[in-house]
Amino acid sequence: MSELEHKERRARLQHLLEEVGLDALIVFSPANIRYLSGFTGSNGLLLAHGAEAILITDPRYEMQAAEQTDCRVKVARGPLLKALQALLGRLQARRLGFESAHVRYAAYRALAASVPAQIRLRPQEGLVEELRAVKSAAEIGKIRASMETCQAAFSEAIRRARPGVTEFEIAAELDYQMRKRGAERPAFDTIVASGPRSALPHAAPSTRTLKAKELLLVDMGAQRDGYASDMTRVAWLGRISRKAARLHRAVLEAQLAALDHVRAGRSAAAVDRRARQVLRAHGLDGYFTHSTGHGLGLEIHETPRLGRGERRRLEAGMVITIEPGVYMERFGGIRIEDTVVVTRTGSENLTRIPKELIEL
Ligand code: ZN
Ligand code: ZN
Repeated sequence: MSELEHKERRARLQHLLEEVGLDALIVFSPANIRYLSGFTGSNGLLLAHGAEAILITDPRYEMQAAEQTDCRVKVARGPLLKALQALLGRLQARRLGFESAHVRYAAYRALAASVPAQIRLRPQEGLVEELRAVKSAAEIGKIRASMETCQAAFSEAIRRARPGVTEFEIAAELDYQMRKRGAERPAFDTIVASGPRSALPHAAPSTRTLKAKELLLVDMGAQRDGYASDMTRVAWLGRISRKAARLHRAVLEAQLAALDHVRAGRSAAAVDRRARQVLRAHGLDGYFTHSTGHGLGLEIHETPRLGRGERRRLEAGMVITIEPGVYMERFGGIRIEDTVVVTRTGSENLTRIPKELIEL
């Protein structure tokens, strides 16, 4: 990301701060700090004030911060909050917001005890997250590259799936192939779930060995150049059973219908409803136990959530997943997930791996 892009983001944040009646914001979330400043270290605080911002970090990150950010950098020799306190004393701000969803209680207490008397501390949620919901062309380019890495790794690793191999082995191979192709890490713990374990929507891989005549569900994403991707595909070991084929067809129909419903201006809840309608027609909506999708970017779960009661409308430039699924105890689960860019007239699908039930 260019320095210009960070500066422009801070200017947009400043507008938001004015709208909610704040003079400055203390940013605690590492992803939000990265978004506004470019800094990727694990220990930092950002004081956003006007289009200016001061990054506070510790000496381990002194060189890195100087390289990565155009913000003023303050290197704290002790606790970051102590250094912040010194800055606040000189700050011309009375109404100071802080990211209440990203601060621990102990840190909050230390902060509250240290702000100068003329400053009012106000909890704030989701301000920077709101800015992050709509991606720039450069960000979409990075998510596209992340998705490419994810797909290439999947195509390579899935060939190793056969009876007798453990879920752990497949997960390790997927992660290895992603890193080998330039990912910093997986975007989340790779899900490899076989047989009845695939009925757990968020199964962690285990020592279970793959068996013939069973499902294999892989949900994976790369984190590349800071940006996540997310994809789910399902395979069957051996000749596909009629039940698996029937369930898969229904989920695919729901996924395609929801994808078809995506476009700027439509509510996130309406897209979710569309997937549910299709599954209801198949008598399967009771087995669909999570929301239809989520935004992604610097983090794997971002605004918007595509679920019931979500009033948020989709906007061009949002990057979201569409991932309906059905989960049946003892039999297993089927989910199909793509990452797509919302456009004015519809969406652009970044996931190109075929969605058919893969016969292994
Ligand atoms: Zn996923
Ligand atoms: Zn997802």
